[in-house]
Amino acid sequence: MNLPDPETTDDSDAYAALLQFLYRVPVGLVQTNLDGEVEMMNPKAAQMLMPLATDASLDNLFQVLSPMAPDLRKMSLAVTAPSGEVCDSLRVDVSVPLAGGRTVRSTLSISIFKFDGNRLLAMLGDVTLEVQREQAGLERRLRDAARLDLLTQMPNREVVKDRLFAIQTQQTSDDQNEFAVLFMNCDRFKQINDALGVAVGDEMLGMLAERLRATLRLTDRVGRSSPAQHIAARVGGDEFVVLLDNLLHPDDAHAVAQRLLDVLAKPYGIGPHQLYCGVSMGVVMKAQASGDADAVMQDASIAMVEAKRAGGGRYVVFETAMQAAALLRSRTEAQLRQALAQQQLFVVYQPVVGLDKSGDIDVGSGVEALVRWEHPQRGLVSPVEFIGLAEECGLIGAIGEFVLDSACGDFMQWQRSHPQAPRLLAVNLSRAQIEQPDVVSMVAKTLQTHQMPAHQLQLEITESLAAQSVLVQQQLSALKALGLTLALDDFGTGYSSLSSLHQFPVDVVKIDRSFTAQGDTSAHHRVLIEATVRVAQSLGMQTVAEGIETTSQAAVITALGCDKGQGYLYSHPLTAEQMQAWMARVSTEGNVDA
Ligand code: C2E
Ligand code: MG
Ligand code: MG
Repeated sequence: MNLPDPETTDDSDAYAALLQFLYRVPVGLVQTNLDGEVEMMNPKAAQMLMPLATDASLDNLFQVLSPMAPDLRKMSLAVTAPSGEVCDSLRVDVSVPLAGGRTVRSTLSISIFKFDGNRLLAMLGDVTLEVQREQAGLERRLRDAARLDLLTQMPNREVVKDRLFAIQTQQTSDDQNEFAVLFMNCDRFKQINDALGVAVGDEMLGMLAERLRATLRLTDRVGRSSPAQHIAARVGGDEFVVLLDNLLHPDDAHAVAQRLLDVLAKPYGIGPHQLYCGVSMGVVMKAQASGDADAVMQDASIAMVEAKRAGGGRYVVFETAMQAAALLRSRTEAQLRQALAQQQLFVVYQPVVGLDKSGDIDVGSGVEALVRWEHPQRGLVSPVEFIGLAEECGLIGAIGEFVLDSACGDFMQWQRSHPQAPRLLAVNLSRAQIEQPDVVSMVAKTLQTHQMPAHQLQLEITESLAAQSVLVQQQLSALKALGLTLALDDFGTGYSSLSSLHQFPVDVVKIDRSFTAQGDTSAHHRVLIEATVRVAQSLGMQTVAEGIETTSQAAVITALGCDKGQGYLYSHPLTAEQMQAWMARVSTEGNVDA
C-alpha cells in the first residue's frame, strides 16, 4: 500500500527521481480512492497518521481522520466534478495520549484534491509550530491592546505604573537620576463634549495627544547623556500623564511642565471651530514620590485638583499637606451629599431695599435667596465654604435646583398671604450651573411648578462668568428669553472694566461690598461707585449696592444715585420664618428700623 520502493523499481530515471522526491518530501502524501481507501502513501504521511490510527490500521484515510474531521467523506462526495478541491488547509487538532498520562498535542493541515474521477490526493502538513506562533502573536496583540489607548494610540495607565515601578525599584540611595510625574486634566473638556458632541471632543483629544508627543520628543535632550525615556499616556477620559525620567535637575521638570501648558493651551482648529482647552497639571517630583506607583499617581492628581482650584491652566507641585486638605474635601463632599438627602440645607433671605434721594426706602423691593448648611457637628457652614466644593464635585446642580425650588415656593407663598411681600426674588446661579445644558429647562420648569411670573425672578451671576464663552452667552440669552432678569453680582471684583459693561446681557449691576464699605471714607471708591452708577444708567441697567452696614454708607450710596441697597443696615439674611415677622413689621410700621 505504500509508494513503490524506488530502489526496486525498473522505470525510467526521471520516474525514479520523482518517486525519490515524493518518498522523502517532508509533506505527507496519500493517494486514496473516492471512499478514502489508501492506495499509496509516503513515509511522512505514515509517520503523521500512525499515532491517530486507533487500531494500528492506515487502510482508510477518512476513518483514521474521522475523530478530528468527521465530514471528510461527505465533503469528498460533494465534489461531483471529475476533479476539484475537497478541502484546503483544513486544520485539525490532534492529541495523542502517551503512557504516564501525558498528551502530545499538534495541529495538522489537510488539503485534499480529487484529481480524476476515481482518485483523491491528500497532502498533510504539521503546522503545530505555526499555530503556536500565531497564538503567541495574538496573545501579544491582546496584551498590547490592554496597554494601549485606542483613541490616541498612547500607552495607558498600566504602562505608566509599570514604568514608574521599574524606575522606583532601580533607584539607589545615591542615585542622581531625577524623575517627575506630570498629571494633566483638561479644563472644561465636558463643555466641549456637551456643546459640540463627542466626535469633536475625541478629535480634540487626539490632537492634544499628538502635541504632547511632539513636545516630549523635543525635550529628549533635557535628559542626561543616555537617551531620556519619557512616556506620555492617556489615563482617563480627559486625563494624561507624562513620566519624565533621567532628568539632570528637578528644574528641568518645571521647564517641561510649563512648555506643555503653553503648547496645549494653543487653539485647536477642528472643522469650523477654534477650540481652547487648557490643562491643569499636578507634578510629583522624585523627592516627594513616596509610596507605590498608584500612590504617586494619586498624589499627582491631588496636585492637579489644586491647579484647577487655583483657576486652571497652570501646574502645581505636590506637597504632603495637600493630602490632608484633599481628605477633608472628600469628607466634606460625602457629608454634603448627605446634607442634601437629609435636608440639612435651607434657604435664608436678605431683603434688598429701594433707595430714594429723599431718604425714603422701599422695603418691599425684593429679597436675595442665600443657601445655608446646618451641619450636625460643625453648626452653620457658610456657602463660601461649600459652593466651590459643590461645583468641583458636581453637586452644584442638585443644590442650585433645591435653592431655586425652595425660594420660589416660599416667595409665592408670601405673595398669596402678605400684601407687603417682596416683589422680586434674586437667586444666585453659579458658574458650573450655567454650563449645564439643562439649566434653562430646569428654571422654566421650576417657575411653572410654582406658578411664578418670570419677571419676578432675578438670577445673579458673577462678573467672571458673564464674560465667558459663546456657550455661556447663549445660555444667558435663553434664560432671559424666559422673561426673567439677570444681575451681575460682585461687580468690581473681577477683571472687566466699566467700558465692557455693555457686553453683558444683564439688567442689574450689583456693586461689590468692598466698594460700599469704603464709600464714605475713600474718595477713590466714591468715584468708582458713581462711575458705575452712571455707566449702568446710560445702558439702562439698575444698580444695587451690596453690604451697606452704616447709615453714613447708606447716605453716600443714596446720594450717588444707586437704585437699591442691601446689607446688615437694613437686615441680615432671615429664615423663611423670620421673613414672616419682617413682612408683618413692614406692613404695620411701613418701614424698617435701620
Ligand atoms: P453674594 O451673592 O454676593 O451674597 C451676598 C453675601 O454678602 C451673603 O453672604 C450675605 O450674607 C453677605 N452680606 C450681605 N450684607 C452684608 C453686610 O452688610 N456685611 C457683610 N459683611 N456681609 C453682607 P453669604 O450668604 O455668606 O453668601 C456668600 C456668597 O455665597 C454669595 O455672595 C454667593 O456668591 C454665594 N451663595 C450664597 N448662596 C448661594 C446659592 O444658593 N447658590 C450659589 N450658587 N451661590 C450662593
Ligand atoms: Mg448674590
Ligand atoms: Mg454679591
